[in-house]
Amino acid sequence: MGADDPILSVRGLRTEFSGDRGDVRVLDDVSFDVGRGKIVGLVGESGSGKSMTALSLMGLVPRPQGNVSASSILLDGRDISKLEPAAMRRIRGRDIAMVFQEPMTSLNPVRKVWEQVGEPLAIHQGLGRSAIRKRVLDMFDLVGIPEPKTRLDAYPHQLSGGLRQRAMIAMGLICEPKLLIADEPTTALDVTTQAQILRLMRDLRDRVGTSIIMITHDLGIIAEMCDEVNVMYAGQMVEQADVFDLFERPSHPYTRGLLASIPRATVARAARRMPSIPGMVPNLAKLPPGCRFAPRCSDAMPQCQRPPDLLPVGVGHSARCWLHSAGAALPEGEMR
Ligand code: SF4
Repeated sequence: MGADDPILSVRGLRTEFSGDRGDVRVLDDVSFDVGRGKIVGLVGESGSGKSMTALSLMGLVPRPQGNVSASSILLDGRDISKLEPAAMRRIRGRDIAMVFQEPMTSLNPVRKVWEQVGEPLAIHQGLGRSAIRKRVLDMFDLVGIPEPKTRLDAYPHQLSGGLRQRAMIAMGLICEPKLLIADEPTTALDVTTQAQILRLMRDLRDRVGTSIIMITHDLGIIAEMCDEVNVMYAGQMVEQADVFDLFERPSHPYTRGLLASIPRATVARAARRMPSIPGMVPNLAKLPPGCRFAPRCSDAMPQCQRPPDLLPVGVGHSARCWLHSAGAALPEGEMR
């Protein structure tokens, strides 16, 4: 693999769940890349498919109710889309790791923090306790846990929320994975701690070169953190672009709606949560015909009764919207 080849290349990812009322496709033909050393955002409202994309990549979708398939999922050139669960367990934590929103639910309350943070080293590298303890100490230092020696033997409840999240990031990075997936890593934290954790993740990318998928509903975090952005809606990618391009030239009406509603920078981050767009994300079991965003779209036109493809709107920029097909009528005053 060359330095320019993406560390992750996902093509045609589909995830379905079977239930009493039939099958529901929660991810439909999701494709995207993560460049080496890049931070790539997945943004959208609740139910858009962001977290399900992460769980599908990690092999954490519950079976047999859930079924994940893909044309290919290349992780550093190796296709992991057809791996059996046992092979996926060997990759998880070693090559691809995840940091979840609420560290308290991911940590065992009755085990010391160092044992949990160091567990991937025992599983994947077969290290003994003293070697693990030393590596965890180094990692606590790296992620900025103050007085790291004294924190090793703490139990999760003895750490603040910010320190617990730093410990989770340490756990995610301890085997030096090729890719770290951070799923709303700061949502449960206060504003000051959020800023510290985001700075830490950016620093780690700069110093260690970790590639990161940043899942968030907060466009402020996307603007601060990401190189590239994938906007998700109802289980599909609806816009993909370089972060500057996305904020400069949002090309899908959903993205425009999100951006148009962001209060000015002087407003506290807490107020910059995903703004409201009229209507709701559709029930995936009862999708509208054609474009999934049509019931909420003020630009909808007759041809939107057909499902739109992802159409190019610029270099490395695409949008799933008929406004960008040749000959589509644009609303008055808008530029393509
Ligand atoms: Fe709106 Fe039509 Fe574009 Fe869908 S395809 S976002 S309905 S204009």
